[in-house]
Amino acid sequence: MAAKKILVVEDNEDTREILLYRIKSMGNYEVLLAGHGKEALEIASRFRPDLIIMDLKMPVLDGWEATKTLRQTDWGKDLPIIALTAQAMEKDEEKARNAGCSDYIAKPVMDYKILQKKIEKFLT
Ligand SMILES: [Mg+2]
Repeated sequence: MAAKKILVVEDNEDTREILLYRIKSMGNYEVLLAGHGKEALEIASRFRPDLIIMDLKMPVLDGWEATKTLRQTDWGKDLPIIALTAQAMEKDEEKARNAGCSDYIAKPVMDYKILQKKIEKFLT
């Protein structure tokens, strides 16, 4: 079976690399990376990932706007998008849902099993 493609969108390079490493260790996943929302839209339209993990606060184009744009496309309207929300920001969760995110997880991710379960919920 072909590896499912997961696009990780995160402006912090360290966080991005950790997510890459962690997600690859979770299963047969091909991980694509983007550093902001605009790059995410370009990569997503070209490679059509099966799931996106989307940071919200990013330069150039933030995660809320990128998600709203993806939801207006034919291929992106039902795509699973898991938002990375800041732990202390309760409003982030609500704003993520309003922008069309399918689910969310608080950052920094402490328990990668929770992230794994969320990914598997959408991809199996
Ligand atoms: Mg950020």
